[in-house]
Amino acid sequence: MSKCNLCPNFCGVNRENSMGACGVDNKISIAKYGLHYYEEPIVSGTQGSGTVFFTGCSLKCAFCQNYDLSRANRGKVITPLELSDIFKILEDKGAHNINLVTPTHFVKEIVKAFEIYRPSIPVLYNTHSYETVETLKIIDPYVDIYLPDLKFCSPFISERYTKKSNYFDVATKAIEFMMQSKKTVIKSGLIKSGVIVRHLILPTCQNDSLKVLDWFSSCAKNGAYLSIMAQFTPLVKQEKLHELNRKITKKEYQKVANYAESLNLENVFLQELSSASEEYIPEWDY
Ligand code: SF4
Repeated sequence: MSKCNLCPNFCGVNRENSMGACGVDNKISIAKYGLHYYEEPIVSGTQGSGTVFFTGCSLKCAFCQNYDLSRANRGKVITPLELSDIFKILEDKGAHNINLVTPTHFVKEIVKAFEIYRPSIPVLYNTHSYETVETLKIIDPYVDIYLPDLKFCSPFISERYTKKSNYFDVATKAIEFMMQSKKTVIKSGLIKSGVIVRHLILPTCQNDSLKVLDWFSSCAKNGAYLSIMAQFTPLVKQEKLHELNRKITKKEYQKVANYAESLNLENVFLQELSSASEEYIPEWDY
């Protein structure tokens, strides 16, 4: 961590005493933990997913649905020991799994928590996918399930919303590693290992969504699932990216949904359009 290159930003900063593009130093910071019921049914089940929301983000999408966290405005610093205690608390509450949300920049500290305590329930790594394979290899022995986003295909769109024109190339390499590493296994309606690739439909970007679906259709392996999400909700008033100031329309949603159906994919979740509501955005505790 004296020269952090954990993600493709390759900041090279000393995280002991400074911050990189992710906005946090090397001390774990979380904004919330608890049972979460709004993930895919094979993740949330009936008892909820044991979710830990980390502060900071190495991607920082303009439309982030967890804006306060990704901009590092919220959070409480905890030690790896305290994180391992949180794993136990979530297990005791009956969580079906431990769900690490946006963990990339804390991977090395999270490994320390797993060295203190390994949960007996599956561990999910929930990521924007702007990841290096080298960093994934550090956390892979502790992970059972990957929940990677595949947000954009077009370099123009990823540049516009994240300032990263190489997002698709980086993310697809990361997801290919994940699919190679974890075969999808479902038991009693719950995912025990594997990959669920998530794609959030954005306003005006349906054609890019179709390209993402094409990629999944031709590259999915080992039983990976696709989860098409319609929950986009504008949380920040956009002064320049005006198209992000509205939810997706029924027509935009239907175009992507119809295309998904035409591909005859076996393992697909399609979120309902009514999911686009602020009531599904968690309230932060710290
Ligand atoms: S994890 Fe943070 S400091 Fe390290 S390379 Fe990525 S953005 Fe930079």
